[in-house]
Amino acid sequence: CGIVGYAGPDEGSGRPLEVALGGLRRLEYRGYDSAGVALVAPGRDSVAFAKKSGKLVNLTEEIDAHPMPDATASIGHTRWATHGGPTDLNAHPHLADQGRLAVIHNGIVENFATLRAELVAAGAVFASETDTEVAAHLLASEYRRAGDLTAAMAATARRLEGTFTLLAVHADAPDTVVGARHDSPLVVGLGEGENFLGSDVAAFVSHTKEALELGQDQVVTITPTSVEVSDFDGNPAEGKRFSVDWDAAA
Ligand code: GLU
Repeated sequence: CGIVGYAGPDEGSGRPLEVALGGLRRLEYRGYDSAGVALVAPGRDSVAFAKKSGKLVNLTEEIDAHPMPDATASIGHTRWATHGGPTDLNAHPHLADQGRLAVIHNGIVENFATLRAELVAAGAVFASETDTEVAAHLLASEYRRAGDLTAAMAATARRLEGTFTLLAVHADAPDTVVGARHDSPLVVGLGEGENFLGSDVAAFVSHTKEALELGQDQVVTITPTSVEVSDFDGNPAEGKRFSVDWDAAA
């Protein structure tokens, strides 16, 4: 129900995890039943993640008990279950590509049963009961084909029916978070040497007031120093710049 993404330079500061958890805290007002985070960093061949059903404190206690490694990019999610009960396993992120790829999702994938059958037939192993997990395996298979995360996200978005805000990180691209939206919101926060994503500006407003609202059916790729927007066919596109009114957002 809440989504946060972050790409920043400072491995070792703990900032990517802090931004993700702080963003989730600011999105708590939307309601949720589970929470999770995923982190990537150079030189690590898999995504680090933690996820727990229940309140955010369950997740932060889990992370305190099993500290997470340094990172250069992060994604964070609070879930409001629609498909599959509110369990630890069904919490997001969902992993694919042998733990190298992590996906979070707000919304509903209506055609998940068809896609799941297709992906299982192609060898994907599912770990949860969610509709979301098809997006993770589909993105992995599109990434194997395209060799590029942004193109793979666009191809994935073209195949999903329903509503979605999706974010993903991959161990191959530790400075990057890629996202897509269809009938579900996604906003970019523009920082200096770091960039943010959120299901609304509350996710990052304590870090930057400069923002970019994505249009319907757009894909976005952020790194610490770049924001690229395209449509689902890969054509360059533009978001709408605005400044957050601090008083209204606080
Ligand atoms: N449909 C997904 C699930 O049940 C995402 C729900 C949400 O928007 O949080 O896991």
